[in-house]
Order: sequence, then C-alpha cells, then structure tokens
Amino acid sequence: MKKAKDTLIRPVGYPQSLSTPIVTPLSTAVAFASNTPDELDAQYEGREQGFTYAREGHPNASVLAQRIDALEGVSGGIVTSSGMSAVFAALAALLDAGGHVIGGDQLYGRSLRLMKEDLPRLGIETSLADPTDARAFAKAIQPNTKAVLVEVVSNPTLRVADMEGIAALCAEKGILLMVDNTFTTPRAYRPFDHGADVVIHSVTKLLAGHSDVTLGYVAAKDAALQKKLYDFAVTTGLTASPFDCWLAERGLATFDLRFERAQSNAVALADHLAGLPGVKRVLYPMRRDHPDHARANALLGGRGCNMVSFEVEGGRAAANALARAAEGIAFAPTLGDVGTTLSHAASSSHRALTPSAREALGMSEGFFRVSVGLEDSAALNSVFTNAVQAAAKA
Ligand SMILES: *Cc1c(COP(=O)(O)O)cnc(C)c1O
Repeated sequence: MKKAKDTLIRPVGYPQSLSTPIVTPLSTAVAFASNTPDELDAQYEGREQGFTYAREGHPNASVLAQRIDALEGVSGGIVTSSGMSAVFAALAALLDAGGHVIGGDQLYGRSLRLMKEDLPRLGIETSLADPTDARAFAKAIQPNTKAVLVEVVSNPTLRVADMEGIAALCAEKGILLMVDNTFTTPRAYRPFDHGADVVIHSVTKLLAGHSDVTLGYVAAKDAALQKKLYDFAVTTGLTASPFDCWLAERGLATFDLRFERAQSNAVALADHLAGLPGVKRVLYPMRRDHPDHARANALLGGRGCNMVSFEVEGGRAAANALARAAEGIAFAPTLGDVGTTLSHAASSSHRALTPSAREALGMSEGFFRVSVGLEDSAALNSVFTNAVQAAAKA
C-alpha cells in the first residue's frame, strides 16, 4: 500500500545541498511555505528575511534589484514589470490628487502620454518644460508642484538636460526630483549623486541588453518614499516575471563591457556619419557641434552613451531605401540591444505629430536614431556608408 506522504502532490522540498549553485536559480514559485504562524509573523514584521507570496517579492526580483541598487548607489529599489510601470509607480505612488508634476517636454513617448492624458484624469496636474533650461522649469512651478520628471539625455534629439540647475531648483523648492536614467545608465550618470530623489529605469534597454525581457526598476533615496513605491507596486501588481529577472541578471553581468563597447562604436559611427556625403547633420553629445557638448562633458564624464541620431536629405523614399540597405541592422523601435538597431521618428515614436510639428522638432522623414550595438566598428560604419548611399540614390 502507498504511504500517505507519497500520494501528496507536493511532498518533497527542494533538494538540499551543502554546496551552492554558482548561478542564481530560477525560482518560479508563487508561494513560499513557512513552518509556523510565528515564523510568518517574524517575516512580515521584518525580524526574519524571507518570501511569502511572489507578488510581494521573489528571489529573482530581489537579486536583480540589489544588482541595480549597487550600480545606482542606493538600497531597497524594486524591479517592476516594465519601464512604464516603473514610471507610473513613481508618479502615482508619490503624488496625490491635486498635486502637480513638471515633465521634460521630450520625455519618452508613453511617459509624455501619461503626463498629458492619464495623470490629469486621475486628478494630478501636469506641465511640460524644456529640460535643457532650468529657468523653464522654474517658470512652470506652481504652489502645488510636488515633483519633476526628467530624462538626462532626450529621445531622439539627444539634448542633455540641465541636471545641476534642475536639481538646485528642486532642492530649493522642496520638490521631488525623479530621473529616468534609461539612456545614460549608471555608467555615465548616477542621479542619486546629483540630488535625485527617485531613479527610474527601463531595464528592457541597456541594463538587460539583449531585447528579450521587458522590465523596469524604480528606487527612492528616502526609506519612507521607498516603502510607498513598494506598497504601490505590490497592490497594483506590477510584479516582474522571475524568468525575465533571471535573464536580466545574466545580461547585467556583461553590462559594463557592453556599455563601453557600444559607446566607443557610437563615437566612431557619429564621426563616420558626419563625413558622409548626403548626411545633413549628426547628433551625438560628444561631438563638438552638438548644442550641449560642454554640458555632456561635464555631466557624463566624457561618456556620450550609445545613441546617435542623424538626418539625410530626401523624403520617405530615401528613408525606405536607407532602412532597406542597412544590412544586418534591425529596423526596430527599441534601443540598448547587443545588436545595432535603427529607428525612424516619423513612422514610430513621433508618428502622432503632423509633418510640420515634426519638422519644428527637427525630425524630418530623413531623420533616424541609431542605438549602436557591439558589432565590429569598421564593419558597422561600412553598412551605414551603403545605407546613406542608397538613400541618396532613391
Ligand atoms: C523604453 C523606455 C521606457 C519604457 O520602458 P518599457 O520597458 O518599454 O516599458 C521609459 N523611458 C525611456 C527613456 C525608455 O527608453
């Protein structure tokens, strides 16, 4: 006869081992069993460490969050299901109805939408201002202004925000400074060292780095704000998948190497593009002709990051020809991948604007953004030579 314990669905625990795995195990468990109610109390009251229910935290999210915490110089950050859920958590957890937030006017597209559509619907007032000029932010301040949200380098024109001016303004007025550090990454800029209260990442991009996970990260310097972020994320279910966290942790292991290679390729590509006939302009913060060159040098320690934008002559036909001729370069609306990707503002991030509104922002049909990857630099440059030639012939 079978013993009762052999008929149980979950009779055996995880195999015990005196030695430990050298790679973080993937833990897909939704629930964690405790021995007694006393032990559960101890965990909930913080006297003992441990997990209870995955939405409230799981090992793979904890390990990943701690890795990013270390890069950003903070503790207690949380990993969320996407970059956008991290942006939303920061704004919705730390602002109340009746409050006001000022955002950079060139924020990531969905962050702009959050500012324009969703937050006002929830009773949070919003304004947009030019982050390259702290005076524009000063003008936008209202008596109920509680927070500012900026990206250090804007998309896709790669303008560099006046971080020192904005941080000084926030400190003077007692306003929370929230920084989306996705483009710059802690390798080029550590917002907490420069007065930020909250740091946000789309981990999807350079930190995970392989275009195979969607994840976000948000951390506050202040423990009470951190607790609010955590509770908001748990209550609204912004939990990240363990597998995504596991992949991102693996990606992070090579983040430093990937960043340095991608950015040195970007320097070379920006200079290469600038020398090609048919290229009207190149935007790269480390080039002398960039409007924020001096600020980029001061803020980013000479690191221009891996994004390069450029413009070629011609309309849609030239843009089509360029994308088609860019062999081995994915024409795709993302960034931070190991491989170089190419995106086109007029047909993706800025498609909702009228052509004349796009022209005003400098984003004609011939305007492209490159997220530079880890390819051989000379080979990459020659692909762009061919692509730009194809555009000129179209
Ligand atoms: C991609 C991106 C986001 C959104 O991240 P997801 O992971 O796609 O949700 C937010 N901010 C910036 C700057 C981004 O590039």
